[in-house]
Amino acid sequence: MHRTTLGDFELTILSDGTYRADGGAMFGIIPKVMWEKRATADERNTIALGVNSLLVRTGKHNVLIETGIGNKLNEKTQAIYRNQALLLQSFEQAKVSPDEIDIVINTHLHFDHCGWNTHYKQGKPAATFPRATYYVQEGELEHAHEQHERDRVSYMTDNYDPLLANGQLKLLRGDSEIVPGISVKIYSGHTRDLQVVMIRSGHRIAAYPSDLICDAKHLDPTWTIGYDLYPLESIANKHRFYQQAIPQHWLVVFTHDHELPWGHLEIGEKGRPMARPIGQKVG
Ligand SMILES: [Zn+2]
Repeated sequence: MHRTTLGDFELTILSDGTYRADGGAMFGIIPKVMWEKRATADERNTIALGVNSLLVRTGKHNVLIETGIGNKLNEKTQAIYRNQALLLQSFEQAKVSPDEIDIVINTHLHFDHCGWNTHYKQGKPAATFPRATYYVQEGELEHAHEQHERDRVSYMTDNYDPLLANGQLKLLRGDSEIVPGISVKIYSGHTRDLQVVMIRSGHRIAAYPSDLICDAKHLDPTWTIGYDLYPLESIANKHRFYQQAIPQHWLVVFTHDHELPWGHLEIGEKGRPMARPIGQKVG
């Protein structure tokens, strides 16, 4: 179990398990001879990805960032992704109940980031976190509803439309504070309205950059995901993120890293950004 403190807040990684995605799609224009040194591909060229959510207990609120893939995929899709839908078991291990969640933040609405927002109850989608208010950017929801031919396969309406209908989903317009110490900031690139979650307590800072930097293998600014809609913005926004994150040694939580779910950002030996595991001494 991955748990630490940040000022007055308690941070816990909760995992929905792993899934498999096409290695080429995950690394975009980076040649396989380069990325296969970092990620092992199987005979179908897929690589393992983690599905990490972050629980922040502020003392006043229990905030869940991202809800994984969930258990609503049909058999055919599940056979492709080979995901395990373990988030609720991870809740049990952490001794937390879904009823205790006050706030859910979705960085964007791709199926692998908001899957446990809902689950099927007697065949109908119901909120998995019944007491929670869910937050997403209005522009992201608009894009999801557009069902654009480029990326409509990434969106599953049952993950958000039922929550919009019952009033649990609140729409944000740009950078916003959700509760004291937890705010969201737009870093477009992966999608136009992707929101990075910022967590501050006791002069310490953690960030959940989501698919802006999905795992430690994508720390290099030019190593962007093939799915990114605006890759040049991804590169510029990774630089913008590092300008503060590296000198201030932010604790960064990686949404898709099954090996290193979080680490403190710094510049490594070759002058490239790296994440130092929690507890590992500098030098
Ligand atoms: Zn995504």
